[in-house]
Amino acid sequence: MDKLIYLDHAATTKTAPEVVEAMLPYFTENYGNPSSVYSFAAKNKDAVNRQREIIAEALGADGSEIYFTAGGSEADNWALKAAAEAYASKGRHIITTKIEHHAVLHTAEYLEKKGCEVTYLDVDEEGLISLEELKSAIRPDTILISVMYANNEIGTIEPIKEIGQIAQENGILFHTDAVQAFGQIPIRVDECCIDMLSASGHKLNGPKGIGFLYIRKGVKIRSFVHGGAQERKRRAGTENVPGIIGLGTAVDRAVRTMEERTAKERELRDYLIERVLSEIPYCRLNGHRSMRLPNNANFSFQFIEGESLLIRLDMKGICGSSGSACTSGSLDPSHVLLAIGLPHETAHGSLRLTLGEETTKEDVDYVADVLKEIVAGLREMSPLYEDFLKKNQ
Ligand SMILES: *Cc1c(COP(=O)(O)O)cnc(C)c1O
Repeated sequence: MDKLIYLDHAATTKTAPEVVEAMLPYFTENYGNPSSVYSFAAKNKDAVNRQREIIAEALGADGSEIYFTAGGSEADNWALKAAAEAYASKGRHIITTKIEHHAVLHTAEYLEKKGCEVTYLDVDEEGLISLEELKSAIRPDTILISVMYANNEIGTIEPIKEIGQIAQENGILFHTDAVQAFGQIPIRVDECCIDMLSASGHKLNGPKGIGFLYIRKGVKIRSFVHGGAQERKRRAGTENVPGIIGLGTAVDRAVRTMEERTAKERELRDYLIERVLSEIPYCRLNGHRSMRLPNNANFSFQFIEGESLLIRLDMKGICGSSGSACTSGSLDPSHVLLAIGLPHETAHGSLRLTLGEETTKEDVDYVADVLKEIVAGLREMSPLYEDFLKKNQ
């Protein structure tokens, strides 16, 4: 198959050529261990710290507050587990939401087994949490609020600044999973009173297996990996130097291109949404109409299965993602789509299309044309659709 239209940038992105190029020397000639004293290797420590500065600048933070991890999942695990442990004497109550990524949700469930109490906030039909509900969930023993910056499935951007203010007023730590938001929307940790923030390289045209946790100076937090003194003794292990160089290069690039890139993506996203909603009947857009990531479109098509849709799209060279977790062997629809109130059948017929910097209008037109045809074809074969037509004759 020659045609490949990749519209699954929320799952991962292509490592940009200049990122790969920046990384290469650190596999070959610059292979020194940053902890070694001779200058040949010490140069690598400087290079690693320069990436810390680049990332910190993108957030309005300080380089010493950036801790490299093996990706977004590790950063989320670290933030929750270490905060629960370090603040155990203050309390054991954590507030998060029902729509977090599993890296947060499953960690919260693990902490519940270890004796923490967790409140999972509901979201409204557009995926937003309620600030009033957040305020009333706060207790004297609440130690952490963890709310994602933007949702990976439906793209909704949460009111992070307001959440941060509430956390700060109540003296509670605030962590945000910004894996989807970082590189797509400007983030200032001070303005939003963010104490910890997770991000990942491969969601912003950087390499896989590298990410970071921003930890505000003064936050008490435990080491995540014990061993050597790397990452200010909080996350031991010889640094993934090529990965870190790749991450820093990708962040620098994402910041520089953000305005132009996301303006283009937003326009194409809106064009896609407009075409799909106007040309395909019995279809809805999931997530917030305006407070959403510039590259995210998520639809539910009644009377069809998201999985069949994905397979047919794949036959046409189109990569998308369904709202259901069938791929992971479970038949449950996505927890996010259920949380916004979709009935099971509707959630099952969902499709997430996430655009990237290389997506063109031609791609979007092709996808809209193909989608229209496939949805009609699947409905032809759908007993649900047949029933519906009979009832509505
Ligand atoms: C992808 C993703 C993660 C996990 O990041 P990895 O680097 O793949 O471990 C966490 N949270 C969100 C919101 C994500 O989209």
